[in-house]
Order: sequence, then structure tokens, then C-alpha cells
Amino acid sequence: MAQILDGIRIRDQILKECKVRVERLAAAGRVPGLTVILVGDDPASQIYVRNKIKACEEIGIRSQKLTPPATITTEELLALVADLNRQEAVDGILVQMPLPPHIDAKRVLLAVDPEKDVDGLHPLNAGNLVTNRPGPRPCTPSGIMQILKRHGIPVSGRRAVVVGRSDLVGKPMAFLLLHEHATITICHSKTVDLPGVCREADILVAAMGRPALITGDFIKPGATVIDVGTNRVSDRDRAAAIFARKPEKLADFDKRGSLLVGDVHPVDVAERAGAYTPVPGGVGPLTIAMLMVNTIEIAERRHRGC
Ligand code: NAP
Repeated sequence: MAQILDGIRIRDQILKECKVRVERLAAAGRVPGLTVILVGDDPASQIYVRNKIKACEEIGIRSQKLTPPATITTEELLALVADLNRQEAVDGILVQMPLPPHIDAKRVLLAVDPEKDVDGLHPLNAGNLVTNRPGPRPCTPSGIMQILKRHGIPVSGRRAVVVGRSDLVGKPMAFLLLHEHATITICHSKTVDLPGVCREADILVAAMGRPALITGDFIKPGATVIDVGTNRVSDRDRAAAIFARKPEKLADFDKRGSLLVGDVHPVDVAERAGAYTPVPGGVGPLTIAMLMVNTIEIAERRHRGC
């Protein structure tokens, strides 16, 4: 049986460590502060932001949520970010994506002070990642590195294949694995013979947003498979095809009307992989934990004045 890489347990460990670091900073008179800007009223973004604020409260980070209306202009949002850049008590600034289509999201991300860029998405921090210099790293890939490290999965010298090349997940994931001395291949929608390339992987990371696309024939027996995908499947025929050999999951679907499915086929991976992250309960929980780590690291750096 494949080992299940439990993201919830690792998240709890990391948050416990975070709490100690926050207490240490607070004792030195320097409570870390995170400000989240949530533009408009997108329901999914509201849930993500609520969970981020809740995590801050749990570990003692001072959080602030700013909720400008969806009608805000790019210039007004830039002015808001500039004001936060100047505020001493704000360590981390997070602009929740996606922004409404009329807003120039790239300009807004570029306006965040790279020192306060908790999501690690500023081009300067992307450069810091590529050149392996200190700086905030994108939360989801750095959470995956924690899953591998804390489960004792060796990375050095191994073949890693990352499917997906987004700035948020795929590219930073590949560089983090490279810096730990894996041999990297990055795949995307134009990759020829995706199953064949994936089968070379000792560590396979799927980050495409395509439900259950990675089936058994993509997986080298015994490989470690990391599933970043979070796709809500609400089509019953699709769910029936994915869970043909798992009637209890299909019954679950019938009860709820939808199910969360990763980019990796949930039944095949359990049969072929050596270890894998489940969906839900694998990668997802780590993203917010690493946001807390980034906020604390920025506060510690600013406290030290370097
Ligand atoms: P994205 O920006 O849409 O990027 C998707 C990438 O997958 C692109 O590079 C695309 O290739 C590639 N791709 C799409 N279809 C493909 C196919 N059939 N074969 C090979 N490659 C394909 O998505 P993202 O932001 O990186 O997110 C990816 C997934 O992770 C989504 O399901 C998202 O919801 C999830 N996610 C989860 C968390 C979490 O905390 N668990 C965090 C972030 C994202 P091209 O570049 O050629 O178009």
C-alpha cells in the first residue's frame, strides 16, 4: 500500500512552530502583522481570506482585512498598496487573486514592496528564488518541500517531473526541487508524450487544474506523487468514471452533489505510487501554513534590520 503524505499533520506541526516564533517576536515588542486586500465579493476568495485570517488569529499574528469594492480602479488600488508599503506595523501584504478583469493585476503585484511580498510573487522575489537568495517563496511549492522533507523523502539526485508551468506553482516548484539537487523536467500543455515523461519521475508533481488527468500509466511504480490540483467535479458521469472502483466515494458524491478531485487519479495513485498526497488533506493545508511562515520570516528580518 502506498504511504499517504498527510498534509494536515505537517500543517499542525508548522503552525505550532510558528506560534513559538510569534511569541518570541511579541516578547521583543514586535508582533508580526499581515494585511490582506480582498477586492470585491468573489465567494471562493472570501473563504480563502477567512481561512488566512483565522490562521493568523490562531498563532497570534496581527491581521487586517481591507475590502475595497469591485469598482475600485487600478490607480486607487495602487495607492492603497503604496500606503501599506509605508506602514511600519505591516510586515506582509497579500493581494488576493483573482482581481476583477478591469484591474491591471501585474501592476498591482509589482507595486507591493518586495520586502513585504508574503506570497513571493514579486518579480524580484522570483529572481531571488531562481538565484537561490533569501526571500519569500510562493507558499504552495514551499509547503510541498516541507511535505517531502518532513516525511523523509529524498530529493537529491532524483528525477522530478513538474506538470504545470505557472508562476504561482509549477515554475517555483521546479526551482525549489532543483535547489535541493533534483534533476528537473517541467511539462505543460504542449509537452509531447506526457505519460512517458511522467513515468520517468521519482517525484511527480501535478499542478495543471485538470481533474484526474494523471492516471496509473503516468506513474512509475513506487514514485512519490504530489497532487496540487483542487478541482470541484459536479458532473455525475465524470465522477462515476473517476470513482468506478470506489462506490463509497460515488455515494459521497450523490450525497453532496460534487466532490473535490485532484489532478491525479485518486484510485490509480493509491495502487501505483510509493507515497502520495491525498486531495483533500495533502498539499492544500500547507499553503496557509507557509503564508504564516513567510509573514513571520519577514517580521524577523525587519526586526533584525536586515
Ligand atoms: P494555471 O495557472 O492554470 O496553470 C496550469 C498549468 O498546467 C499551465 O502551465 C498549463 O500549461 C498546464 N496544463 C494545463 N493542462 C495541461 C495538460 N492537459 N497537460 C499538461 N499540462 C497542462 O494553474 P495553477 O495556478 O498553477 O494551479 C494548478 C492547480 O493547482 C489548480 O487546480 C489550482 O486550483 C491548484 N492550486 C492549488 C493550491 C493549493 O493550495 N492546493 C494552490 C494553488 C493552486 P500551459 O502553460 O501550456 O497552458
